[in-house]
Amino acid sequence: MVTEFITEPAKKVPVLKDVDILVVGGSQSGVAAAVAAKRANPDATVLLVEQEGYLGGQSVGGMVVHWEFREYTNNKGQVLARGIGKEMIRRIVEKGHSDPLFKDWLDGRGPPFKDVPDGRAHADIPLDVNDIQLVLIEMCEEAGVVVLLHAKVVGALPLDTATGFPASRGAFIETIDGRRAIKAKIIVDCSAFADMAWYIGGKDAVIIPESQAMSMQAYVWVDNVDLEKFVKEGIWGHSFQILYPKDEKQIWEHVKQGKTFVIRGFADIINKAFDTEPDLAEAYEKTGAVPLIYFWLKTVRTRKVECGGETKYLGNFAIEGPQFLWRQVDPMLVSKAELNQLKGAHILTRVHQYLPGWEKAFLDRTVAKIGFRETRIPIGLYALTKHDVYSHAKFDDVIGRGSGHDIGRGNVEAEYGYDVPYRVLVPAKIDGLLFGARTVSVESDKNDEGLTALNAHRGISVAIVVSQASGIAAALCVKSKVEPRNLEIKKLQAELRRQDVVLETPRQ
Ligand SMILES: Cc1cc2nc3c(=O)[nH]c(=O)nc-3n(C[C@H](O)[C@H](O)[C@H](O)COP(=O)(O)OP(=O)(O)OC[C@H]3O[C@@H](n4cnc5c(N)ncnc54)[C@H](O)[C@@H]3O)c2cc1C
Repeated sequence: MVTEFITEPAKKVPVLKDVDILVVGGSQSGVAAAVAAKRANPDATVLLVEQEGYLGGQSVGGMVVHWEFREYTNNKGQVLARGIGKEMIRRIVEKGHSDPLFKDWLDGRGPPFKDVPDGRAHADIPLDVNDIQLVLIEMCEEAGVVVLLHAKVVGALPLDTATGFPASRGAFIETIDGRRAIKAKIIVDCSAFADMAWYIGGKDAVIIPESQAMSMQAYVWVDNVDLEKFVKEGIWGHSFQILYPKDEKQIWEHVKQGKTFVIRGFADIINKAFDTEPDLAEAYEKTGAVPLIYFWLKTVRTRKVECGGETKYLGNFAIEGPQFLWRQVDPMLVSKAELNQLKGAHILTRVHQYLPGWEKAFLDRTVAKIGFRETRIPIGLYALTKHDVYSHAKFDDVIGRGSGHDIGRGNVEAEYGYDVPYRVLVPAKIDGLLFGARTVSVESDKNDEGLTALNAHRGISVAIVVSQASGIAAALCVKSKVEPRNLEIKKLQAELRRQDVVLETPRQ
């Protein structure tokens, strides 16, 4: 609880750029917004500002490389989405280092899991993390988007109230050379923290959920797994919950073709490790992470190595690491989670060595930054509900389709998806601003403790869908000189269609 305050002295801040559209946050969502804006209105100047030194957000810094293609083609083979997200995937896959399952799908030999009742099976296919970054840079360059890295948006400009609602016509940023101002007509907030709404309207403009329904978590990549030993001796006979693909023969085929396989379970191995080395169990508990009850193991890369006339298949696995059910906008708790997730990652690597084939595995890569799932929820003209998500809602102001991300798991019905209405991108009481990325307007934990609609919207692919729409809306607002709340929806939908966005409901 804060008890002391200091008034920050006023100061003159140099204006670094004066642009039409400012996009805050440079993940694939921010890039989608910025590139789509430029494509919709090539005359508009677009600046993308990112606080880190790379594009790609959580996909790159958090190593979340599984851009679920079930959000594009569902488990009935129906098309739910295309647009700039599919274009990004195609370009990433063309670089040649991503899981071949993606290429199968793009070439029309998929989805590989057609009619699998558990939509989750479509989720865990990896793209190449370095190719993601490169493609995002290339797309910005091609479109003429100006990218500013190492620049954190830290505040709103003095508010303009000419329209009757407060608007910040730009933002203050903190750069390596100190504070600067950016002037902009429209801001698209892809920060995933609803930062701009927070800076402009504070608690009147955002919801900060009380219930910790979703954790902070980081991936851990572990390399040098002897796949032959693991597949032949390590899997069967242990307790596992999900196995993809289906049987030992298919897993082995996947290994040889460099395709992923995914397994969840192994509580018996965790118990064995913790019983044998109680100090490991104690150290893990001390991190404050949610107790470890299973491993979620997915290969991100498999390598064929010839050694002394012998062929070996080595696996690099992405493992869901320690997770923390702490408040994700509390600076001290976030910092503690960041430090402890890294300690937890090292412990996990030692626990994994109890799996057959994992004896010589080592910690290959840890995240640049822990992953967030539940931060601030911006308040829009409409809040998407759990009911909308589950009932395959239809809206006249549809700007794209969502498939439900994790909430579709095990539920074939949910894979038909729902319309995302434009109103979830438009602030209720702020002008000059649009929401993008995973933070759009959804119902609060007061109505739905599990935050289903937020969970549905935190998938990478749907975050791209909404961001493309926000970028286009910003571009059209600049062109027509209107505020987002007054944008003609038919114009927006026409440009969305022109940019290959799916607005139609697939046949059920
Ligand atoms: C462990 C874990 C596993 C997951 N697995 C999957 C999965 O398999 N598939 C899937 O689809 N989703 C998965 N998710 C969810 C998914 O990763 C995220 O919800 C998604 O990446 C969020 O994308 P985003 O663009 O909304 O936000 P982010 O990727 O967080 O991007 C926000 C960007 O804005 C920047 N930024 C923030 N504030 C500012 C500021 N003030 N100034 C400048 N820049 C700023 C950030 O640095 C960042 O680059 C997972 C999440 C976690 C934590």
